[in-house]
Amino acid sequence: MGTPIQRPLVVVTNREPYVDERTRHGVRYVQKAGGVVSALDPLLRELGGDWIAWGSGSADRLTAPGGVRPVPLSDPKYRLHRIYLNPEEIQGFYTRYANQGLWPLSHLLIERARFSRRAWTIYRNVNLKFARRVARESPASALIFSHDYQLALLPSQIRQLRPDLAIAHFWHIPWPVFTVLRLCPQYQEILRGLLGADVLGFQTDDDVEAFLTSVERSFRHVSVDRQRRQVHWQSRVIEVRAFPISVDINALESIVRSPRITRWSRGIRRHLVHDGQQLGVSVDRADYTKGIIPRLEALREFFRRYPHRRGQVVFLQVVVPTRSEVSAYRALFRHVEQETRRINQDFGNNDWQPVLSVRRSIDRKRLMGIFRAADFALVSSLFDGMNLVAKEFVSAQVDQRGVLLLSETAGASHELEEALAINPWDPEGFAASLEQALSLSPEDRRVRMQAMQDHLHQHTLYDWATDILTTLEQVTAAYVES
Ligand code: UDP
Repeated sequence: MGTPIQRPLVVVTNREPYVDERTRHGVRYVQKAGGVVSALDPLLRELGGDWIAWGSGSADRLTAPGGVRPVPLSDPKYRLHRIYLNPEEIQGFYTRYANQGLWPLSHLLIERARFSRRAWTIYRNVNLKFARRVARESPASALIFSHDYQLALLPSQIRQLRPDLAIAHFWHIPWPVFTVLRLCPQYQEILRGLLGADVLGFQTDDDVEAFLTSVERSFRHVSVDRQRRQVHWQSRVIEVRAFPISVDINALESIVRSPRITRWSRGIRRHLVHDGQQLGVSVDRADYTKGIIPRLEALREFFRRYPHRRGQVVFLQVVVPTRSEVSAYRALFRHVEQETRRINQDFGNNDWQPVLSVRRSIDRKRLMGIFRAADFALVSSLFDGMNLVAKEFVSAQVDQRGVLLLSETAGASHELEEALAINPWDPEGFAASLEQALSLSPEDRRVRMQAMQDHLHQHTLYDWATDILTTLEQVTAAYVES
């Protein structure tokens, strides 16, 4: 990778990369599905350093004496520092304020957002707990790379405790327009928290614009330089830029080309499709932002409008249970099952089941094999910061057989321009795009896939991380030396 970063690195996220669980056969670690972790773990293994996160596993205390767990256990490359939260903290900080407040609001699903002052107080205190740990563990002048909507207050809290540290905070989800943001009763505190960073990263230019507007509209004593994308605030300059997160396409390509995954991929096609049928896939956490129900509605519309396609398409949906402590998520999971059953009853027959479901997490290597096997993928998010699944599908398509249908409201659509754009709010248009995808010639598919793969080769996960961290190193060089 050869990164030019010179200063020690400390990553801070809510979710830990390795969750150690007690099982009947001893301790087993699980790597949770989710974009943040799958992006940062390979990076820290390469660079070394420290990662501070919530220790959420039932065996976490066992594998982390003194709160520190080496990663990987057998041949340590970096140190994972675990912060333990009690049930009240988990409920207020994570389940309520972050997941039932900031998450739906940032995805513009206003009616789902719930805020309370009690949850806010807990959110603030848990952020402070993280900040204190960062202050304690970080070497002098370290680069702090903190993440996402669970830790919005962290940058200013860290700055108060350790002014020598340089801080970049990356916001992985969409940034809402100001008219929506201001519905959050604590929006000014959230903005102040983030403005403690030296560098603020977002997925797209639209997010950056929306953030700068929010700052401008919220405070009188602030100046926003739109040209340079800087905020001048309390005698400091904050760089606000788009750094679209990406994947390690080279690593993913070698996974899919390995003999084991090649066999697995062929096996999937052999088992699932016959006689020229086309195989479609989708992979999502069962989250209402992912547009899983709209996608099933579009599939229903598709089989209704194009009856000659019945029997020709098999659709495999991987729906991973997530945040099951929130009732809206449990309800969604049941709704997906019902809708799937209905489509299969209405259109399927003894020889053909249109929609197949996997309702658990699949490890990334096998997932890549599934992507390789597919003729098309449907990414139908209602709103999505980036959507790494879209980029992983493109990376895994080494045979260049597949077509990507990608929601135009996912961050990835800003880059993957050769995907067929879909609007998840328009079931008829969605169905028509699927028909178009199935009719594309092999040459057209190849050309589109090649262009997207070229883009990913030029914008890898490492480029993303090094862009942010070198920007941070540069803009803070002066105050480290002084
Ligand atoms: N993922 C996985 N196993 C699964 C489902 C998903 O490893 O069964 C991974 C997937 O490969 C991707 C991440 O989880 O890296 C999901 O990231 P994305 O940005 O698409 O959505 P998020 O879940 O972060 O909202």
